[in-house]
Amino acid sequence: PELAALVAGGTVDVQDFPKPGIVFKDLMPFFGDGPAFKRVIDGIVTHYGPGSFDVVAGVEARGFVLAAAIAYATGVGVVPVRKAGKLPRPAFSATYALEYGEATLEVHEGAFVPGQRVLVVDDVLATGGTAGATMDLVEQAGGVVSGFTVLMELGFLKGRERLGPRTVHALLTV
Ligand code: IMP
Repeated sequence: PELAALVAGGTVDVQDFPKPGIVFKDLMPFFGDGPAFKRVIDGIVTHYGPGSFDVVAGVEARGFVLAAAIAYATGVGVVPVRKAGKLPRPAFSATYALEYGEATLEVHEGAFVPGQRVLVVDDVLATGGTAGATMDLVEQAGGVVSGFTVLMELGFLKGRERLGPRTVHALLTV
């Protein structure tokens, strides 16, 4: 509850972004609040427990920030899940529907040692399209998803249901 309050306290609702009718949850104030950011990263690390993952995968772009912090705190590495066309070497790619529009994500072939346990992180779970595509890519690239964690879940979009039996950890559900 304390961590949920820190995320909620650092979130601003932006009307009509990026399209009319969408209320965008802007978590930038949370990211900019050092003590809140540190408490939340430490809380995520504690939730999963020591040694429960071998690498962290972050979804471009806010997921990179979270992934780097979790990786540093636990002494593991980071793998970027990137938007199309950014990775320099051959990559797996997945295209999916977004809450607004469509997107393609990519992960380098060979990004993971086969069987490596991967914690996947992003800032917001909305429809679940991004999360599902990311976990598919991690598995294609040889990783085993040990968890998917977000700061905020938009419960009314039912993303969790789309992800089936995969485990989602959300600090705050709105
Ligand atoms: P989904 O694929 O519909 O679940 O959308 C999740 C992805 O879009 C994540 O990468 C989020 O960063 C981003 N996203 C969707 N809605 C919001 C929002 O309201 N605030 C911030 N990010 C969002």
